[in-house]
Amino acid sequence: MRTFAVIGLGRFGTAVAETLVEQDLEVLAIDIDADKVDRVGDRVTHAVQCDATDEKALRAIGLENVDVAVVSIGEAIEASILIVMTIMDLGVPEIIAKAVTNKQGKVLEKLGVSRVVYPERESAVRLAHGLAMPNQLEHLELAKGFGVVEMPLPTRYVGMLLRETMIRTHYDVNVVAIKRAPDPLTGAPYGGEEEVNFNPSPDDLLKEGDVLLLIGHEHDLQRLQEET
Ligand code: ATP
Repeated sequence: MRTFAVIGLGRFGTAVAETLVEQDLEVLAIDIDADKVDRVGDRVTHAVQCDATDEKALRAIGLENVDVAVVSIGEAIEASILIVMTIMDLGVPEIIAKAVTNKQGKVLEKLGVSRVVYPERESAVRLAHGLAMPNQLEHLELAKGFGVVEMPLPTRYVGMLLRETMIRTHYDVNVVAIKRAPDPLTGAPYGGEEEVNFNPSPDDLLKEGDVLLLIGHEHDLQRLQEET
C-alpha cells in the first residue's frame, strides 16, 4: 500500500491528512509548529514536529520511505521551495505541492514536482461550474474550456433511442456513458449493482432515472443543460 507524508498542517494539509487516514492509508503528518502537530495528533498515523527543510531531521523520521509527499505551505513561498528541494534530495518519488499564487506554482513546477495544486482556485472553478450548470452531479475540467459532466437524463429524452436525441448534432456533445440504477424490484441487470454502459450504441433506449456522462465544450454542455 502507498504511504503518504503531509508537510504543513494548515487547513488544507490537515484535511488531506485526515481524508487519507479515513481511507485507511498510512500518513506521516509534519509541521514545524508543535501546536499544529498536537491538534492532528490522534487523527493521523504519525504526527511529528519537525522543520521540513532539515534533511537530517526528515531522515530521522523516515520520510525518505514514503511514496507520496504533499507539501502544503501557502504564503511562506521560501519554505515551500526549500521543503520541496529537501524531499527531492531524499528521493521521494511523488511530490504534490500546494500553491497560492501563479508565481509560486511556476517555481514549484520548475523544480519538477509531480503536480501543483491551487486549492482555492480549483474550488472556485468547481463552484462556478456548479452554479452555471446546477443540474450536474459531477464536473471534471479536462482542459481549459472542455469538461466531462454527469447529469440526470433530461425528461424530454426519456423513452428515446440515443440517436433520436440528436445530442451530438444539436449540441456537439458526446455521450460517453450511461449509468442506470438497478431495478428496485428485480435488482436487474446485475443483482443490485448499478449498470454502467461505457460504450453506448445509437440504438440504446434511454430510461427515466438514467444518468448521462457527457463530454464537450463547457459552453455546449451548459447550453444542453439550459435547454433541456
Ligand atoms: P491553509 O490555508 O491551508 O490553512 P496556509 O496555506 O495558510 O494553510 P500556512 O499558514 O502557509 O498554511 O502554513 C502551512 C503550515 O506549514 C503551517 O502550519 C506552518 O507551521 C507549516 N510550516 C511552515 N514552514 C515549515 C517548515 N519549514 N517545516 C514544517 N512545517 C512548516
